[in-house]
This record gives sequence, C-alpha cells and structure tokens, in this order.
Amino acid sequence: MFVSRVVGDCPGCGAIQKFGNVFVRRDHVLRGCFQCKYSEHIPLPVLRKKVLYLDQCFFSHAFRAKEQRFVQAAEKLREVSALQLMVAPFSSIHEDETNQWKGHEEELMKFIRDISFGHEFEPDYQVERAQLCRAFKSFLSSGSSAFQLCEDDALEEKVHDWDEYLYITIPGCHGDTERIRNARRQSVEALVDAFDHWRKTPKTFEQQILLEMEEQARQYLRAYVDHSVKLGTGDFEALFTSPVISSYVEQLLEYVPQDQMKEGLKIIGNFVRSEHYNQIPYLWIGARVYACLNEEVQGGAYTNREKAIKKLQGLYGDIKHAATYAPYCDAIFMEKKMTAYLSGPRINLEKRYGVKLFSSETLDDFIAWMDQVIDEMTETHRVALSMIFPGVQREDNHAFARAILGKA
Ligand SMILES: [Zn+2]
Repeated sequence: MFVSRVVGDCPGCGAIQKFGNVFVRRDHVLRGCFQCKYSEHIPLPVLRKKVLYLDQCFFSHAFRAKEQRFVQAAEKLREVSALQLMVAPFSSIHEDETNQWKGHEEELMKFIRDISFGHEFEPDYQVERAQLCRAFKSFLSSGSSAFQLCEDDALEEKVHDWDEYLYITIPGCHGDTERIRNARRQSVEALVDAFDHWRKTPKTFEQQILLEMEEQARQYLRAYVDHSVKLGTGDFEALFTSPVISSYVEQLLEYVPQDQMKEGLKIIGNFVRSEHYNQIPYLWIGARVYACLNEEVQGGAYTNREKAIKKLQGLYGDIKHAATYAPYCDAIFMEKKMTAYLSGPRINLEKRYGVKLFSSETLDDFIAWMDQVIDEMTETHRVALSMIFPGVQREDNHAFARAILGKA
C-alpha cells in the first residue's frame, strides 16, 4: 500500500518505519504497510465545521491591497481551517468577480482556493433554483410557508468530512468575462437611472419589497416564455444560449401533478403571489436590501449619477453573495455598507438565520471569534487530528494549526 504519512513499525510484519496513513476518508483513517497487507481502520468522530462566507471585499483588502490586518485575518483563517474547525468555501460569484481583475485572476483565485482548502459552494443559480423548487413543492402540498432551509442546497456534504488536504483543484469554467462586466455596468446604470422614478413615486418599505418580489417573478416567467417562443419557432440555438433563469419555471412545471398540467402556469402564478414564495431566502434578503436602498434614495441620497454608479458598482455582486449564501453560514464577512443593511432591524440576518456578520469595521471581532473557535477545540477533535497528522501534535492549539500547515 502507498503510505503517505509514516507512524512507525508495522504491527503485522514488523517492518521498521513502514506503517502509516494510507488515506483519510470522511469518517475514518486507513493505515497500512509498505511491505505487507496488514491494515487498520481508525474511526473518526462526526464532524460539523463552522461555515464562513467571505465576500470579494475581504480578498480585495487581503490580496490586492495587502493590508496588514486583513493579511493577519487570512492567516488566522488558514489556521482555523487547518484544524478543520471551520471552512470558507469559495463560490461561483467569486470566480465571476475574480475574472474582472484583469491580470491577477489566476493569482487571486489561487489565494481564494488556498483559503478555502479547495472547498466550494454550489453555484449561485443552483442554490436559487433549489430554493424555488423547495418552496414550490411545499406550496403544492399545502405545507407550511416557512422556508425549510436545507444545507444540501448550497453545500456538498463532503464539506464536513475530515480532510487530509491532498486536494486537486480544477480550473473553473469561467463565464464570459466581458459579457459579465458589461451586464454588470448596464444593470448598475439602469438601477441608478431608475432613481428619478423612485423619488417621484415614493413607496413604503413594504410596498417596495412587494414590487421587487413581483419583478423577480416577472423575470422568471418572461425568461421562460422567451425561451419557449424561440424553441417553438425552430430556434434551437436557444437551448444553448438562453439564460439559466429561463429553466427555473420549466423545472417548477415538472412538479405539477400530471392531471393539473393544463393549469401549470396558473398554479405558478398563484405560487409567486403566495407566502411560500415570499419566504424564499435569497428573494427575501435581496428584496429588502433594494427596499433599504430605495429608502435612502427617497431620503435624498445618490443624486449625482456618476458618483452613484461608481459607489454602487459592486452592489449586485454583494447582494448576490449575501442573499444566496448567508443563510447557510455561521458567519459572513462583507463590505460594511452591506453589513449595515443586513444587521439593521428590518433585515436582522443574525436573528433570522443565526449568522454572524463581520466587516472591516469589526475585523478585530472577526479575528477574536476565530481565536475563540480555536481555543474551544475539544479533546476528541484533537485526537482525531493527531490520527490524520501523526507526529505534528502540539500542546497549544494555535501551534498545532501552524504545524499542520508546515509552519512550525
Ligand atoms: Zn507490514
């Protein structure tokens, strides 16, 4: 057998320094011998890592600007992740945004992957679709309208497996960089251009949320109809070129019972006006952030078009990061404006989803929180780590982490 980490002499054949770890698989370590077939199966305890989401601003500070406090935080994060107490997976949004950093994309993505130890969230569109489907199924069965959050929708189960860090990263299949950049600039411009209308037609917070929810539903239906019309007129290119959101309604229709198929779109129409739809996490969060922004605009903010476009250029990405992934996380690190929206009394994400919110203003708290997680490591956890990384144990948890990373 191929032994990756030697622990000593083989209990089977007695060969000197030929026995050790062959591999680590989610809940056990397999040990074996270089020379004979003797092996041992060592069970590992059930693990649940804390899940952290870092939005792009964290990487801008730590990687691009090389700000010392952020570099320190990133280092702490490597330690707490090396101890397998926490995981900070990267997402499809990171890949899209990183591609906008001309000339540094690969270096930055490597930095992000290093911090995530190769762990990844499900792509954002998949999370959105999974949430829509989950809510729709509950609607069809007249279940509770309270959304049942399910970690599988956003994270692969293996995120919580014990790792030995022999991961291989496969370069992501990136979207069309130029297209994403243009689409983003156009959407920010369109948003800012809508501000005049917002000012002239004042809405309450609740009214604005309703409008946002309706608009989103309209987009799903419109994308589906456009796609169907194209196919209906023989434009089969649409199968490859239609945006992914055109498939959402199609997928929902698959859940409609056969005998009600004729009424399919009507049922979906009722669904998007239901409380089941209103409770879908990424819509619930996104609509409220836009309603907060609307309130600021009505209050006289963002009157200078150019400045507004500049200031809000990251908004779409930031909302997407938070709305898609925050409910599945123990903590999320975001740009401070976003954190202010999400921690405010109207959204209060911490209360709703039990997620801690950190930003550059609370960077010290963020580091202290990671230290606390390291200090609270249990003895069972420590023993499991010493099975996975034989010979590197240290009394002090922080020193143990550095030793695993090969830094001590
Ligand atoms: Zn042996």
